[in-house]
Amino acid sequence: MIVLKREFASPHFKWRELECKCKRICGVGGNKARWIQPEAIEKLEVMRDLLGLPMRINSSARCPLHNAHVGGAPLSTHRSTESMPTRAFDVAITMDKDRIIEAAVEAGFNGIGINYRTFVHVDNRPRRARW
Ligand SMILES: [Zn+2]
Repeated sequence: MIVLKREFASPHFKWRELECKCKRICGVGGNKARWIQPEAIEKLEVMRDLLGLPMRINSSARCPLHNAHVGGAPLSTHRSTESMPTRAFDVAITMDKDRIIEAAVEAGFNGIGINYRTFVHVDNRPRRARW
């Protein structure tokens, strides 16, 4: 069993990297939205191990209002609520993009969005989707 320090969501990722990044909506009187599906975080760790390099996450959890503000789909896999946790990560392209995509596939992420300039979107949806 791995014992994590409180600031870590998993061995390589801190909550601060994964929680909602909005400045005003959530976290005003408490914590930022950070409900994230554990299985998705496990797959992110597998990806990290496959890549063997630090990964930067541009966006993972978004509180519902922040998700709407940034133009996310109403049922975006980034949307974070207790009953429907986040299962998506936008992985910044800090290394070869094809390598990131390969690692995402190998880690078992079913949803992969490759048509973005600065990041690769990966999510743990139940069925395969590519865009
Ligand atoms: Zn927020």
